[in-house]
Amino acid sequence: MYDVAIIGAGPAGLSAGIYAARAKLSTVVVEKMYPGGQAAITDRIENYPGFNEGIAGAELTDKMKSQAEKFGAEFLNGEASNIEKRDEKFVIQLKGETLEAKAVILAMGAESRKLGVKGEKEYTGRGVSYCATCDGAFYTDKPVMMVGGGDSAIEEALYLSRFASSVYVVHRRDQLRATKILQERAFKNEKMKFIWNSTVDEIKGRETVEEIILRNVKTGEKTLVAVNGIFVAIGWVPNTSLVKDLAELDEQGYIITDENMGTGVPGLFAAGDIRRKPLRQVVTAVADGAIAAVEAGKYVESL
Ligand code: NAP
Repeated sequence: MYDVAIIGAGPAGLSAGIYAARAKLSTVVVEKMYPGGQAAITDRIENYPGFNEGIAGAELTDKMKSQAEKFGAEFLNGEASNIEKRDEKFVIQLKGETLEAKAVILAMGAESRKLGVKGEKEYTGRGVSYCATCDGAFYTDKPVMMVGGGDSAIEEALYLSRFASSVYVVHRRDQLRATKILQERAFKNEKMKFIWNSTVDEIKGRETVEEIILRNVKTGEKTLVAVNGIFVAIGWVPNTSLVKDLAELDEQGYIITDENMGTGVPGLFAAGDIRRKPLRQVVTAVADGAIAAVEAGKYVESL
């Protein structure tokens, strides 16, 4: 049995891994995809303290992973399908494997919110993408669309402008939510064209995406824009379905924690984007992970 099992290897889980393993707790970090989470697919992180030139997301999270390994954290590739508390231990079901741990830190983050329109599912991977850093280079010299007005949408639209011939930014209001510094860069970028007060009605094409039908939310007017790719960055949905009967969730599905990352279930902690919090950034995720690991250590000691 492990002292601490950490589910999810984004910045929160990796930081928890560093702190738990360094405190000599036997620690396992379970990840279903690749380590680093959303941060690993971020082209450049400019606001993580200590890197004044910015750092590639994957480089930062690779360093976090090797730091956790250096202190003795084990990494396991797998997807947890069930977590339950039995007496004083947690039992975590993975495909073909069962883990036991005295304490668990939930750090599964969140996944991209979907548009929920006709053509979205059908063309995912054939023109519909949720990750500009992953797929942007496929659209060299081609027109693309970005949906959303937050930091992710604008940062990713700026990234796309390095490759694409033009980037249409479609936002449901007439003002961006993104921070001012990103807005200034975007408005100066000649490849970026803004389509305000509009939402996507339908994604159309043949083999791949060819055109998008937009609807003006004020006038109801529909327009057609020809693009080869559509990128969606309209926020996130927390990955909490696994723990909906174990931890308390808010109305949006985020885990409610106290300031020590406790969920109310003794020994069960949550860290990073999965929990209700006012600011979701790498710097707050790693702070959550550190607190959760220290508190998990105290809990294990108390048993
Ligand atoms: P976000 O801040 O929640 O923004 C989501 C955007 O999508 C908003 O503009 C929202 O419109 C729009 N939207 C939501 N649902 C929609 C729908 N159904 N149809 C059309 N548009 C919809 O999400 P995010 O940009 O991914 O950012 C998440 C967090 O990460 C934020 O805290 C952000 O600051 C942070 N982040 C920071 C950086 C950075 O610091 N460089 C980079 C990326 C992300 P409204 O504006 O009308 O609500």
